[in-house]
Amino acid sequence: MTLRVYNTLTRTKELFEPIQPGRVGIYLCGPTVYKPSHIGHAVGPIIFDAIKRYLAYKDYKVSLVINITDVDDKIIAEAAEQGREMSEIAAEVEADYLKCLETLGVTGVDHFPRATENIDKIIALVQRLIDNDAAYVVGGDVYFDYTAAADYGKLSGRRVEDAMHGSRDLAGENKRHPADFVIWKSAKEGEPGWDSPWGRGRPGWHIECSAMSMDLLGETFDIHGGGMDLIFPHHENEIAQSESATGKTFAKYWLHNGLTRVKTKAAGGSEKMSKSIGNIRTISDLLADFSPETIRAFVLSTHYRRPLEFSDEQLSATAKSLETFYRLFDRIERATGTDVYGGGKPIEKLAEQADGDNDAAFVDEVLQHRLRFHEVMDDDFNTAGAIASLHEMAGAINRYIEQTKIETQDNETTKALAAGAGVTLVNTGRILGLFMAKSQAVETDDVDSSEIDNLIEQRNAARESKDFARADEIRNQLSEMGIAIEDTPGGTIWRKA
Ligand SMILES: [Zn+2]
Repeated sequence: MTLRVYNTLTRTKELFEPIQPGRVGIYLCGPTVYKPSHIGHAVGPIIFDAIKRYLAYKDYKVSLVINITDVDDKIIAEAAEQGREMSEIAAEVEADYLKCLETLGVTGVDHFPRATENIDKIIALVQRLIDNDAAYVVGGDVYFDYTAAADYGKLSGRRVEDAMHGSRDLAGENKRHPADFVIWKSAKEGEPGWDSPWGRGRPGWHIECSAMSMDLLGETFDIHGGGMDLIFPHHENEIAQSESATGKTFAKYWLHNGLTRVKTKAAGGSEKMSKSIGNIRTISDLLADFSPETIRAFVLSTHYRRPLEFSDEQLSATAKSLETFYRLFDRIERATGTDVYGGGKPIEKLAEQADGDNDAAFVDEVLQHRLRFHEVMDDDFNTAGAIASLHEMAGAINRYIEQTKIETQDNETTKALAAGAGVTLVNTGRILGLFMAKSQAVETDDVDSSEIDNLIEQRNAARESKDFARADEIRNQLSEMGIAIEDTPGGTIWRKA
């Protein structure tokens, strides 16, 4: 199967061919650490962590880098307001960010380079641009000369005149052209700064990403990611600087995720999340209400290029849909004794055990859904389609359990196949970082599951013989035991109410 990705640079879906066979380098623009992390900060890492997991599953050796912008005008302003050191605020916010990512299961990031720890590399890159006549010094500031990049605008498709129209950045009285941008900024009295050939100062935001990505991944690397709002000017400027310095292609594929929106109660609509609107939800806030797996599954339930709208209703719906899986895993364990989280033989290794057409058809159906999962992931990392395949697989397993009545009848083969299908489902979900641990599953330890199964079986028999009074009576009996039942196309499932 071949992977295709949508490349913002070419505006087409392209065959994915890494620069070095078998290896993939990914750089994702990370947060400016001045306020507690909001959910928008976690969206990119969750998406690219899932992308890395999928590529690793396909046997690529993947290096994923997310930078930390720990020197910036916004942090300096925040520090001044709080009367604290910039470094103190940055360290505090970074720690919160990293803790949130860890909680959300974003474990695949290989490097989190900090701007302040790469000042020497940034200075070297600025010097290289000056040497190449692509940058000029005015006072203590250094500007990139956009005319040095003949193809400036190729990523965003904007012409400079359009891009500058209405721009408030015309105030750069020291610049030769409004489209030029600062790559080294002189430090004012009391501002943090580092010694450089142009005096004390600090790096501009764009140059920091160019320096750190090329340092860790090479002058040409495979995938550069970020939110769509970064295409212009940030990514356009990263390309201009990097390619003017090296004369080489900077990043081969540009992958941009859709904007994060939050549903606002007042307007009933949705707005781009921003600190100025005041509709931010911090990650810590969300984690108080929803499990990390719910947040992860919610982000991945939308294709990464589409806008993502956070609302409590949507997150609750995701939590409910995850319960379908938890209940199935629990059902499999009760019926077969297999804890699907703990491993065991997946169904693809049990195919020869299939006994008769019904079993063979079941094995085939599960494997079809697994194949579909890979097909949609190969189509520009369509995690939404992949999750839909997981639901289809779960439905097939529930139906099989119902048909074969393994909850009440002893048949080693059908039990083994149901358990194997559960293991396959867990293994497939884990490619996206889902179903990693049982801890989030529905707890049913303190109820007698065999008694419940027995009552459900009696209720089904009553329904089949149209004795609805008896069926209702059993439902009430279960309800009194604190058990809710639900009749699904795959059979009756239960959970603690
Ligand atoms: Zn960046």
